[in-house]
Amino acid sequence: MNVRTVPVFEVESDPQAAPAQAVAANGRRVGSAGDLSARAAMVSAVAALHAAAVDSASRFPDEAIGAARAGRLLSIAVPRELGGEGAGIAEVANVCYTLGRGCASAAMIYAMHQTKLACLVRHGRESVWHQLFLRRLCKEQLLLASSTTEGQNGGDVRNSAAAIERDGSRISLERLATVISYGRQADAVVTTARRSADAASSDQVLVTFLREDYTLEPVLGWDAFGMRGTCSEGFKLRAAATEQQILPLGYDKIHARTTMPVAHLAWSSAWAGIAAAAVERARAFVRQAAQRSGGALPPAAAHLTRATATLRTLRSLVAASLRRFEAAADDAAALESIEFQSGMNLLKVNASELAVATVMSAMQTCGLAGYRNDGEFSIGRHLRDVLSSPIMISNDRILANSATAALLSGAPDALID
Ligand SMILES: Cc1cc2nc3c(=O)[nH]c(=O)nc-3n(C[C@H](O)[C@H](O)[C@H](O)COP(=O)(O)OP(=O)(O)OC[C@H]3O[C@@H](n4cnc5c(N)ncnc54)[C@H](O)[C@@H]3O)c2cc1C
Repeated sequence: MNVRTVPVFEVESDPQAAPAQAVAANGRRVGSAGDLSARAAMVSAVAALHAAAVDSASRFPDEAIGAARAGRLLSIAVPRELGGEGAGIAEVANVCYTLGRGCASAAMIYAMHQTKLACLVRHGRESVWHQLFLRRLCKEQLLLASSTTEGQNGGDVRNSAAAIERDGSRISLERLATVISYGRQADAVVTTARRSADAASSDQVLVTFLREDYTLEPVLGWDAFGMRGTCSEGFKLRAAATEQQILPLGYDKIHARTTMPVAHLAWSSAWAGIAAAAVERARAFVRQAAQRSGGALPPAAAHLTRATATLRTLRSLVAASLRRFEAAADDAAALESIEFQSGMNLLKVNASELAVATVMSAMQTCGLAGYRNDGEFSIGRHLRDVLSSPIMISNDRILANSATAALLSGAPDALID
């Protein structure tokens, strides 16, 4: 197994320590929030360079994640006093979008990492263990993996089978983690689990296990249609640690207030990035066709218009949802309201449908040149990658779970909230 060993806590004592500064290829100092877009663009360029190789070999995007580490992108959302940059959800989403334009797998890995990180940042404030861990994450640019899928439960994130076992202050967990993206490469796994052997399946906790706390026994490979670089293999996860590694708040609250909204915002942003990259190719195709025919637009140009329109709608949807989350972020009651929950759940359904529609229109714009796997106008990889979006927590499952909320909510009184 490709394991990056990380020592147990060795944390700098200076809480005000600024993040280490790196120097970009263009000579600019990186490490400040101001140049976040430039750093993200730089990492995206690296990701794009290797995206085809990552896809064809179904391998982890080492170069992109290495560049993200060098540019200190993994810790941007950690508060400054712990060594991060205090970036907000919109900044994180923008990075996901930018990476998505370069390499879908790198963007999704980053989105999943940021979702788990948001849980630790927002719900670990009262926990010394989590504060120390966040400092270490900043210092070493640790990568977090997520384990929610278990056995055959698919996207039923709010139920767990495996339970935390306790022996004094020590805990252990053995779980059939049928999908852990980049499980082999991650430095820690953040996993859901049943609170105890006598707890109901929905009485869950969220635990962080460090690399040295667990072993992964491979049970399922990852030879997938798209998102091949996420390396979303299945493992038997066996872990032992201290009880301090469990977040104090129950997972039902963490899920509603952070995991679900942040995941859906980050994923949607990554999918929007994939869609934008496909539209770019379609635009280049139409431009070249127009140049070759003395300025006349090809008949398929209408598909480009459609692709541009759905991309616009997708970006507006994500932007509006980001504002909605920002407005409610510190208000537990607002976050847990049926209105907010169903809005954020439907964001995922709508964003995935819009992203797929956009990439399909881009493919239709390019015709055979888009359908081919070779050539500068190929849309094949983008289409395969974006087709993961409706199944990554199945849209059907979300729609079925949202049916009661839809029944309860009437038509809004005003056009604009
Ligand atoms: C690229 C990628 C990366 C992933 N990474 C991770 C990871 O790092 N960690 C992790 O834990 N998981 C991960 N997952 C798994 C993901 O979180 C879900 O568990 C998974 O997508 C669910 O797959 P499923 O089709 O088996 O699910 P199910 O939810 O079982 O759905 C199967 C089918 O049943 C139908 N269905 C299910 N429920 C309902 C319902 N209520 N009403 C109607 N129809 C229903 C749907 O039509 C669906 O097609 C990843 C998935 C993808 C695609």
